Amino acid sequence: MADLVVQLQQVSVTYGKTHALTNVSATFAPGAVGLLGPNGAGKSTLLRALLGFVSPDQGAMSVLGLDVRAHPREIRRRIGYMPETDAHIPGMNAVTFVAYCGRLAGLPAADAMQRAHEVLFYVGLGEARYRNSETYSTGMKQRLKLGQALVHDPDLLFLDEPTNGLDPKGRDEMLALVQDLAHNKGVNLILSSHLLPDVEATCHHVVVLDKGRVATHGPIAELKGPTGRVFELRIKGDLPAFVDVLRAHQMDCHGTDDDVMRVFVPAGMGAQDVFGLAAQHRVQVRHLRPSVPTLEDVFARAVGEP
Ligand code: ADP
Repeated sequence: MADLVVQLQQVSVTYGKTHALTNVSATFAPGAVGLLGPNGAGKSTLLRALLGFVSPDQGAMSVLGLDVRAHPREIRRRIGYMPETDAHIPGMNAVTFVAYCGRLAGLPAADAMQRAHEVLFYVGLGEARYRNSETYSTGMKQRLKLGQALVHDPDLLFLDEPTNGLDPKGRDEMLALVQDLAHNKGVNLILSSHLLPDVEATCHHVVVLDKGRVATHGPIAELKGPTGRVFELRIKGDLPAFVDVLRAHQMDCHGTDDDVMRVFVPAGMGAQDVFGLAAQHRVQVRHLRPSVPTLEDVFARAVGEP
């Protein structure tokens, strides 16, 4: 399908005996798509495979309509990649570094330099652009990484954990830039993160990875399901036994270690069914309130967290 920016079919990647990705089939639509999963889920591997840096044992992948195996250079020319690890050259100032990245991406020298100045102002490093990047704070280094990913005006951005190591203010600023890129500048991007709020703040679609497999995917609003189908519940009585009862009635329970757990009620059921089961099993309901489904719920259900 031409309107998809990335497609993977049955992709498996191993590092020695480690299965980093197993039979991953996924599509990424234009716009901002979250790639969500706990550490070690395979997110970086997926991005690196799309860039042609690791070769899958099996499967097919396309980026911007191009087959990854046949066109790795063309794909890399059109992608901006913000890796998870540090990416700066010690001793080089920011503007020289970003211009150099622009040259590597194929820009003529004058254009690369002009763009380097532009993107550094855009990411908030205008004042600091002549400083040696080694002296930068973590937040500045993250922004520099974003700057080098943008220098050649790519058609698609891969952002790997862009808020890693940032304090709350730095994180908000980084997410604001991602928002602006996706929603005002119309840049297609894949945001890899283990942080649900980062994905929720910036993306409409998500692909959830867990242990190298796709746990769920789709528009976040749809995955969350309609409001009122999730309840907060606190009881007095034998909690583990009542959780078993609820689960036996197709009601998913999460956060069962917390004071207030979350209960997912299937279509056609509601609060009255929870009350009914409680009465039947002599459990006292202390608190039962409809709640708004969160991405955290989607994630918990997809990866089968208790
Ligand atoms: P994520 O980005 O979701 O944290 P990764 O793609 O980095 O996940 O890692 C997926 C799995 O592959 C993990 O078990 C990790 O330890 C392993 N892995 C990643 N890179 C390498 C590597 N270069 N060599 C060996 N194992 C690796």
